Amino acid sequence: MARILLVEDDETIGGVLATTLGAQGYQVSWEQTGAGALRSAAATEVDLVLLDLGLPDIDGLEVCRRLRATRPSVVLVMLTARTEEMDVVVGLEAGADDYLTKPVRLGELLARVRAHLRRAGPGAGDGQGTAAAGGLRVDLAGRRATVGGRELTLRAKEFDLLARLMATPGAAVSREDLMSDVWDENWFGPTKTLDVHVAAVRRKLAEMAEHGPVPSIVTLRGHGYRLEPPD
Ligand code: CA
Repeated sequence: MARILLVEDDETIGGVLATTLGAQGYQVSWEQTGAGALRSAAATEVDLVLLDLGLPDIDGLEVCRRLRATRPSVVLVMLTARTEEMDVVVGLEAGADDYLTKPVRLGELLARVRAHLRRAGPGAGDGQGTAAAGGLRVDLAGRRATVGGRELTLRAKEFDLLARLMATPGAAVSREDLMSDVWDENWFGPTKTLDVHVAAVRRKLAEMAEHGPVPSIVTLRGHGYRLEPPD
């Protein structure tokens, strides 16, 4: 389960957030100072940091900069009572990925945390922007693929596979590259997993053909696959 570092000096707010996140199954460590947060982040692995900007010892923006410098891939979400646009911009420039303004709505907090962790997860890809081929649109941030507005019901790795092929339409992609990009491993054995997933994505694309022109996935014998945009 994902590990969340909560940095909040306010006892009441911190308590509510820690309890709420813990109840969702997240592993939460709660620090009440900037120094404590930096110590904790240095000592243990963490996937996401919820960082209050108004801390008693070190300015939250400075904590943000230092966390980003030592943990480039961690998801940093600022909690701020400062609603001025300038502060948000400064925070994002200091390395934050996102921000929530106080008072924090718990439903929104959980939705954002879930979305960030899904995006940061293995095989999630770059998670930005939209790719399109014919009538197929792939929304990388939302992890949705649609044809004519109808959503394909893709499993996680099927989505990752389609997104990878959509990244280089018309180009051959080797089996090895697909395995390492989508499954995050160097695969030297049989790649049955890949074929099963390709077959599933092909079937689901074909089912959508009545809603718009869909690309096809061409098998390149002895090499891999190529996504062919529709004419
Ligand atoms: Ca505070």
